[in-house]
Amino acid sequence: MSNYNLEKRRYVIAFVATAIVVVYIVRLFTLQLLSDDYKKNADSNAFLKKIEYPSRGAIYDRNGRLLVYNQPAYDIMVVMNEAKGRIDTLEFCHALGITKEFFIKRMNDIKDYSKNPGYSRFTQQLFMSQLPSEEFSFFQEKIFRFPGFYVQQRSIRQYQSKVGAHILGDVAEVSPYDIEEDSYYQPGDYIGKLGVEKSYEKQLRGEKGVQILLRDARGRIQGKYMDGKYDRKPIAGKDLTLAIDEKLQALGERLMEGKIGSIVALDPRTGEVLCMVSAPSYDPRIMVGRARAKNHRALAKDAWKPLLNRSIMGMYPPGSTFKTSQALTYMTEGIITPSTAFPCNHGFYYRGLHVGCHSHAAPIALVDAISTSCNSYFCWGLYYMIGNRSKYKTPYNAMNTWRDYMVSMGFGYKLGIDLP
Ligand SMILES: [Zn+2]
Repeated sequence: MSNYNLEKRRYVIAFVATAIVVVYIVRLFTLQLLSDDYKKNADSNAFLKKIEYPSRGAIYDRNGRLLVYNQPAYDIMVVMNEAKGRIDTLEFCHALGITKEFFIKRMNDIKDYSKNPGYSRFTQQLFMSQLPSEEFSFFQEKIFRFPGFYVQQRSIRQYQSKVGAHILGDVAEVSPYDIEEDSYYQPGDYIGKLGVEKSYEKQLRGEKGVQILLRDARGRIQGKYMDGKYDRKPIAGKDLTLAIDEKLQALGERLMEGKIGSIVALDPRTGEVLCMVSAPSYDPRIMVGRARAKNHRALAKDAWKPLLNRSIMGMYPPGSTFKTSQALTYMTEGIITPSTAFPCNHGFYYRGLHVGCHSHAAPIALVDAISTSCNSYFCWGLYYMIGNRSKYKTPYNAMNTWRDYMVSMGFGYKLGIDLP
């Protein structure tokens, strides 16, 4: 009985062992002979993924005037495993115009996971960003002497004029939050932070491309993997045409110089925004490249709040333009006719309430009331509307009717604008 069991167990063990060997052989065969699946090996250090950045879309005004375009800039990248102990630090620092202290600190920061969570010694890490062409050309002549250092061509925004900072917004390096929100982004990428650069980020940014390069055992680039079969070409971002008229915008900004407030001009037929001025403003050209962080901090601290877009973030009473909507309401409701005249004695007095007015002839009829912008006239209009018991029964009903007119003319609700 026990012998029989032992015999049976031997067969089972032999079968299991054979099965394991067969599985391994099949697996090895498919891996090495059948599968060139790059994805399975993508994280191996035999590959170098070189990102190719698309050019960001340009921004034009309504008449086709160029407002924002790109200028080349260069990121200096490093692969630690290749650079380690193989470069002359002093010569390198000289070529980039940096100090040895900066070099050491930067190299340590790159290797510090708390500052650079995506660190790997086999992949390209950002050493220095947004070098302008003049600084870069000197470095480029010597780059062959610095193994492990690579150049990533990028572009920075360039502005044709200094107007429209609040509308245009700006572009800056992604935050950890941006990366978490959208897997498209990697550390060191740029993203629209404000204005239309932010609201149209997806259209403007385009699609990144990638080149997959093959390395040998010593880390040297051997060429394209599988003849570029898995490479992807970058797709340029789309250009953007705004409803803004640059000349009108410039005029508005000039009129608001030294003042605080906002001008918005709309085309009432379409709702298009022809100009949107918020004062004080700033020159969008200071929010570019490596100086951005410093300048942004200074603007954020400024007591006059130049970063605030008062056109859409400030709270302002509607002012005298509101009076025409009142005139329309009172006339439609039969409270006044164009010849109805009301008195004005430097304003409107009713019990404890006083709404002031400037000096002008009185009493006056509707057209004069609008041209002199008489506050009293339109207060009297509302007074007679609320008091009209035979028409509305109660003041409550009268106010509800008034409110319906205001809402029908677009007051009281956000109009919706494609700015963050
Ligand atoms: Zn008046």
